[in-house]
Amino acid sequence: MTGVINDAISKLARSSVKAITPYASARRSISGTTAATWLNANENALATEYQVAGEFNRYPDCQPAILLQAYANYAGVASNQVLISRGADEAIELLIRSFCEPKQDSITLCPPTYGMYAISAQSQQVNTNIVPLTADCQLDLPAILATKPKLVFICSPNNPTGNIIPQAQIITVLEHYKTSALVVVDEAYIEFISQSSVASLLKQYPNLVVLRTLSKAFALAGLRCGFTLANADVINALKQIIAPYPLAEPVVQIACQALQTDAINEMQQKVVVINQLRNNFIDFAKGLSGIKKVWPSDANFVLLQVADATHLIKALQQQGILVRNQSNQLGLAEVVRVSIGNAEQMQNLQQALQNYFNLQESI
Ligand code: PMP
Repeated sequence: MTGVINDAISKLARSSVKAITPYASARRSISGTTAATWLNANENALATEYQVAGEFNRYPDCQPAILLQAYANYAGVASNQVLISRGADEAIELLIRSFCEPKQDSITLCPPTYGMYAISAQSQQVNTNIVPLTADCQLDLPAILATKPKLVFICSPNNPTGNIIPQAQIITVLEHYKTSALVVVDEAYIEFISQSSVASLLKQYPNLVVLRTLSKAFALAGLRCGFTLANADVINALKQIIAPYPLAEPVVQIACQALQTDAINEMQQKVVVINQLRNNFIDFAKGLSGIKKVWPSDANFVLLQVADATHLIKALQQQGILVRNQSNQLGLAEVVRVSIGNAEQMQNLQQALQNYFNLQESI
């Protein structure tokens, strides 16, 4: 494979698809690297081992009842309010495909935020209303409510800024769009904060959708398993177009194990460890004069503003440490995002940062 797109094939591809800049996933942007310390994808370094059993000659259930029930119990909703998908990413795409007419409807986004909302919209030729977060990373409510979308995406805790969006703000958006749009609250990182999820608002708001994943606190990014929580009518609309067999049988088995009481307790203990490492890292980073700004965080990552993000990222990469550049995000010039790894990885990172800034000062 040369990677060169044959001219004739290129003519066949949809122009709206060719126009897309693919999501620069942490894996895609550094594929082939031999780095040892992966702090660039908000994964959880504290992994658990799982066993898979059985034969795989039969197609799996589209939506296995046992897993629907397990997640419903965990999230405190009814099982007909849950959809399981290939990661939360698939749910984002299903929502846009199910609810937005191409070239006609729009979604509202509040950057800097998770990149896949815009990319999924673009691939479906759905317009985007861009309403930046305020300077203190909150929703700009008057500007949001001035848009006429089919879907509003709110990420809380927000990737990459790390803050939660207050429930009162989310309720204002839900009220305003009660009959005209769905409000999608992406809670991929919800386990890292003790505050309650907005899932408890599902009873009051038929237009609320909550996205969840096993990729973060549950340390199962490689599993590709996410959940949508919404009222049954929304779930049924998504089921209209979901792939016939979106979940491999081993995925279902492992997800069920991860949602047993003991495993949930273990996950919560890991969250305590990660949050402590994060708080220690924030204190450390604030003490480095080369770091201009350290964002507070309610998730498993921290934003840092430096003089030259590309230079710092290269220097860390040479020492086998991968972090993520966020400089192309609105308002985040020279900002890097550091995912919180295990204690040893954080020690290596802190040592590398200390050396880097000592060297910069001496030049
Ligand atoms: N939402 C947010 C805010 C994320 O950061 C991510 C993953 N980086 C996702 C959704 C997608 O998660 P999944 O691995 O479940 O597809």
